[in-house]
Amino acid sequence: MSDQKWGIALFNHLPEKIRVFDTTLRDGEQTPGVSLTPENKVRIAQRLDELGVDVIEAGFAAVSKGEMEAVKLIAQQGLKAEICSASRGTTGDIDAVAESNADSIHLIIPTSDLHLKYKIRKTRKQILKITQERVEQAKNRGLIVELSAEDATRSDIKFLIELFTKGINAGADRIVACDTVGVLTPEKSFELFAKLREALKVPVISVHCHNDFGMAVANSIAALRAGANQFHATINGLGERAGNASLEEIVIALKSLYKKDLNIKTDLLYSISQLVSRLTGIHVQPNKAIVGENAFTHESGIHTQGLLANPLTYEPISPELVGGTRRISPGKHSGSAGIKDTLTKMGLKPTEEQLKEIALRVKNVGDKGKLVMDADLLAIAETVMGLKKVKPIQLKEITVVSGDKVTPTASVRLTLNKKEVCGAAFGVGPVDASINAVKAAILETEPIHLEKYHVKAITGGTDAMVEVVVTMRKGDRKATAMGVREDIVMASLEAVISGINVLTTFYNSKEKPKK
Ligand code: MN
Repeated sequence: MSDQKWGIALFNHLPEKIRVFDTTLRDGEQTPGVSLTPENKVRIAQRLDELGVDVIEAGFAAVSKGEMEAVKLIAQQGLKAEICSASRGTTGDIDAVAESNADSIHLIIPTSDLHLKYKIRKTRKQILKITQERVEQAKNRGLIVELSAEDATRSDIKFLIELFTKGINAGADRIVACDTVGVLTPEKSFELFAKLREALKVPVISVHCHNDFGMAVANSIAALRAGANQFHATINGLGERAGNASLEEIVIALKSLYKKDLNIKTDLLYSISQLVSRLTGIHVQPNKAIVGENAFTHESGIHTQGLLANPLTYEPISPELVGGTRRISPGKHSGSAGIKDTLTKMGLKPTEEQLKEIALRVKNVGDKGKLVMDADLLAIAETVMGLKKVKPIQLKEITVVSGDKVTPTASVRLTLNKKEVCGAAFGVGPVDASINAVKAAILETEPIHLEKYHVKAITGGTDAMVEVVVTMRKGDRKATAMGVREDIVMASLEAVISGINVLTTFYNSKEKPKK
């Protein structure tokens, strides 16, 4: 079907400049169970600014004291990005935004009959008047006004255009059509934004999509191709219900699939995703596009063989593009090529015979339904190759203090390459304090980071066995390890130390491992 038929040939391309409006700290924070302190919001805002987004929606100034404080704090940081606060269409909300010293206001006005009738009990005529008055009020307070139509995608298009026009005439600088309940399809999105671009005289038209049907990213890109020149998105796709459009997915899809580069430092995406996950407590699903743990992890023998010859065979983008690392995970699908590569990085050079035996034992463990950690692979290789087990780090002693009205504190004594080292640290709890103490003891010699920490009780009751699985990272290498104990502190330390041992073990150190 030709674009001509739709009368929108003019817009079927991506605009020269696409603005990135990040709403991780507002819509993302509306994720059930997420509540960020003002300090943590500032930490995320600083990273978003480094990333290069155009607008940071810092919060909803009128919602609470903490939110007001967060928006104020972020506005004071002197960031390059424009700082925005959300607001309902009430004078009190607009005053709060002005008081917060935000640069701009995201003024949200419901436009669907459903919302008008049941949520705010106003007629179309009344909401038109409110829109005009509130836009004028916000402009009078010196704010940049981004006028947002809530539930726009279920609104009468004629009324939607009428309301936007009213707002633009009153001084609105930008408009947003929100797919509040995620019901757009790429085709509908294209049609809607082409119509809005044709009808409205406003420099910036933004799309705001939710992911209820898993189409938020596709709908956002369709809107950008039809006439929108800004998108709202969140890190990790956080947001109410199924979340908002994911910022990292839109940015990388535009760059890799549409050859459209935004001014975004994409190599920061992975670390920001990790930070947001840590501070919000919402895990990134392992198979999440772009930033999931498995996005660059390979197990299958067929894949790893191709991958080692040329990464393009099984990776559409390189991990470096988003600041991630490739990992070849041992398991029952592993082939000897992947195992050999992992062992080479540990300085091990098994013979063909030994390699076969190692691969066989790895498969046996996998066949029993068990996860094969990198630490297990190392232990298997050491056994098969008859090596004396080198454990660079060994725990000698640990003391942990925790309780009420006491700061959790730990001290450890370890041997690091046969030399004794000590460390002490605080933490938010006994596990955190112990891991911090280990880090303190070895940090100067070994810059190793704990990237993932998962704990589960494998039996019921308070005397349950606890299983801790960790991913440790040193430079561009990662290793997984597990600890199983009745004591959660000991299980955690076992996992962490065993992960560090994998990353610091290096046999036959004459030759440096290949990257
Ligand atoms: Mn939303």
